[in-house]
Amino acid sequence: MTLNHSITHVVNEGDDGGEVTLPGISEGEIVVLRSKRRKKSISAYRQGGRIIISIPARMSKADERSVIPEMIAKIRAQEAGDSPSETLLLDRAVQLLEEFAPEIIQRPKSVNWRAMRERWGSCTSVDATIRISDRLKGAPSYALDYVLFHEVIHLHYFDHGPEFKAALARFPEESRAEAYLEGFEAAERRYMPPAVLPGAQVL
Ligand SMILES: [Zn+2]
Repeated sequence: MTLNHSITHVVNEGDDGGEVTLPGISEGEIVVLRSKRRKKSISAYRQGGRIIISIPARMSKADERSVIPEMIAKIRAQEAGDSPSETLLLDRAVQLLEEFAPEIIQRPKSVNWRAMRERWGSCTSVDATIRISDRLKGAPSYALDYVLFHEVIHLHYFDHGPEFKAALARFPEESRAEAYLEGFEAAERRYMPPAVLPGAQVL
């Protein structure tokens, strides 16, 4: 997994002016809610493509800065436990080609998880590399397979023309997978925009 995405969190005006850089986080991925009802407890959970971290309203900025990376690490560790390794993704992409598109002779060189919120996957045919959105960590296998298959057939079909579509349609659970991805996106949109939630800071 690449950790070269980093974002800078600039605290609100009137705060102490500190900054935190969080590695491996894409912009807008982390939302911090300050809750008046919370006394001591901190919670963190996934909501669509975001990690929501709820902290007590009175927590100091210094404590916030130390606790947030811990909570992110905790969520990431949980997700790593139930998401396939990149080696497994690569093997699976090749299996899918052999099973549903045996006419394609190109093979991917690498498949990597990537923090991407706008896309489910991407394929660079010149160097045969594929990236899969980490929003699919923990997704049902038919949805992950569908995105993998979509990207891997781009090694041969560069656009979304009729030949590409015909190949993609050989994936047996295409409509079920589409429904999963649409539902996931709808849930993300419903939650937007986090910036207007009272007390929310978008990192
Ligand atoms: Zn595509």
